Amino acid sequence: MAHVDRQAWDVVVVGAGGAGLRAAIEAREAGMRTAVICKSLFGKAHTVMAEGGIAASMGNVNERDNWQVHFRDTMRGGKFLNQWRMAELHAREAPDRVWELETWGALFDRTPDGRISQRNFGGHEYPRLAHVGDRTGLELIRTLQQKIVSLQQEDEREFGAYDARLKVFQECTVTRVLKTDGRVSGAFCYERESGRFFVLETPAVVLATGGIGKSFKVTSNSWEYTGDGHALALLAGAQLINMEFVQFHPTGMVWPPSVKGILVTESVRGDGGVLRNSDGRRFMFDYIPDVFKDKYAQSEEEGDRWYDDPEHNRRPPELLPRDEVARAINAEVKAGRGSPHGGVFLDVSTRLPAEVIKRKLPSMHHQFKELADVDITAEPMEVGPTCHYVMGGVDVDPDTAAATGVPGLFAAGEVAGGMHGSNRLGGNSLSDLLVFGRRAGLYAAEYAASVTDRPTADPLQIDAAEAEALRPFSAEGGDQETTHDAGPAENPYTLHQELQQSMNDLVGIIRREGEMREALERLAGLRARARRAGVEGHRQYNPGWHLSLDLRNMLLVSECVARAALEREESRGGHTRDDQPAMDRHWRKINLICELADPQGERTAADPSLGQIRLSRRETPPIRPDLLGLFEKDELVKYLTDEELSR
Ligand code: FAD
Repeated sequence: MAHVDRQAWDVVVVGAGGAGLRAAIEAREAGMRTAVICKSLFGKAHTVMAEGGIAASMGNVNERDNWQVHFRDTMRGGKFLNQWRMAELHAREAPDRVWELETWGALFDRTPDGRISQRNFGGHEYPRLAHVGDRTGLELIRTLQQKIVSLQQEDEREFGAYDARLKVFQECTVTRVLKTDGRVSGAFCYERESGRFFVLETPAVVLATGGIGKSFKVTSNSWEYTGDGHALALLAGAQLINMEFVQFHPTGMVWPPSVKGILVTESVRGDGGVLRNSDGRRFMFDYIPDVFKDKYAQSEEEGDRWYDDPEHNRRPPELLPRDEVARAINAEVKAGRGSPHGGVFLDVSTRLPAEVIKRKLPSMHHQFKELADVDITAEPMEVGPTCHYVMGGVDVDPDTAAATGVPGLFAAGEVAGGMHGSNRLGGNSLSDLLVFGRRAGLYAAEYAASVTDRPTADPLQIDAAEAEALRPFSAEGGDQETTHDAGPAENPYTLHQELQQSMNDLVGIIRREGEMREALERLAGLRARARRAGVEGHRQYNPGWHLSLDLRNMLLVSECVARAALEREESRGGHTRDDQPAMDRHWRKINLICELADPQGERTAADPSLGQIRLSRRETPPIRPDLLGLFEKDELVKYLTDEELSR
């Protein structure tokens, strides 16, 4: 056995985005020695890209807002498939989490009377998103980092070392969660720069690794989003829930090709931007679904009046939930009414004065000027759908964020599933990170403190993790007759491109049975080839090697998405089937659960073309009556079965 350094911690948080940092702060404040580990530089996590804001019903701009209205909007946005207890906790606790950020030094934009300003966003009944221009994620991360530094300064005063109780391992990747006697015992990691392996021994791991967007060709997501936490959880024996629900944000850049997919924040529409097709028509009025008919303006005049007088008018349909807008744009382009580069037009220039646009949307102004040579104060943008967010994720206990079936494993943020149902409302992720990041840190700390006989990491597992990580350096062809790993070594970049193309084309925004079956076949082929993904050179900063390791994760989560999407024979939220276009009330309470079909990996090692994922169904517990009482019966009829209604 090669020597691998070990360090012992009470709690290890994987990920330094909003969820991970909030969890780490809570665990450290509970007195636990806490390590945070992240792939990128500290402060560079994907959360910094968040633009529009944090949804919290503070009622600063419209005092009618409260947690009940936020809960209602979240359930509607998720088409009632949400784990309702998570949606309840999220709506109740989000305002406190935003206030708390201000006590730690965040400074949000203000209303004229000095309160935290809140902006409109799709699916939110009232202005609800606390924001800092269109750079909210940056302020959130900056504040959480500042809090961490202040805790480290306390530790320096008390123990003489800044990282005595809170240490950040930056530019390091976890490739395995280790288990001993069925419980979490640590994490196997490598330093990206040196390639050195090490183990963080701990009874409690919090996964806060974000999403999976890099499995798709057109995406708003950063390079980190390779589904690592989803895969780590599966490999550790946990379950993923509702992986068929992937959000395609309606407005990504479509031109030039090098920036295709980069996000155009929903704030553009929240602040007055309108969508038009090549005929100049505001086409969203043609796409208001029945379930939302009475809540959205039926004419352009009414929609325009709403910006100044929301009490007496209904909101414009550009502010429908994202899944609706994305489908509408897709349909317009398909019908030949798209913009020159295959999107539609998003115009804010004719709606707001140039100086207001520059003040409210500084990043968008800069982004379009620099990347596309478009001045959004004078001309429309071209936009189209881009893979943005995964609603599915690790199945967790709503209150404690503990992963089902694996003692010591917790998950929060985008890697956790259930909270957003079939479709997330904009702004509800940043609040989710804070609410459930805190809870994950709290309960991971509680769990760690309760473990009196701490498991030690098993040397055999460490050896196996090391061998797995080194495999790309020895990938080469074998005898086709005797091994499924036969064939020439494969280039990980080629495999990644083929995976992204397949997922985009076959399990993308509009899905069909035949295409999803084809996707599963292609994934099987890619899986077999990925075992031969080979790299040259050394372990010192070697991005090709890192990608080879990430491929395992992307292939696992892609299979989850494709299998679950094939199984769910209806259209709902982020899952749209051309061959099953209707939403079916009988599917509402059914969750599709993914787990490893062959946990020991023997069968799939012998034949990698075999599927790795087993699907099962699980019903959501009935929604608590007081929460159901927040809705009109007329509305519930659209979502619940007759049996549920009579109950
Ligand atoms: P992240 O912030 O992505 O952090 C993941 C962390 O995990 C990173 O530190 C990464 O390095 C680490 N990591 C991953 N894998 C490993 C591994 N194997 N080992 C070690 N570390 C690992 N939501 C909103 O609510 N409001 C918005 O306005 C908004 N705007 C957005 C704008 C853009 C452009 C995008 C792309 C998303 C936006 N979102 C928004 C969504 C939101 O930003 C994300 O859902 C959220 O930031 C995810 O946070 P997280 O803490 O779960 O993960």
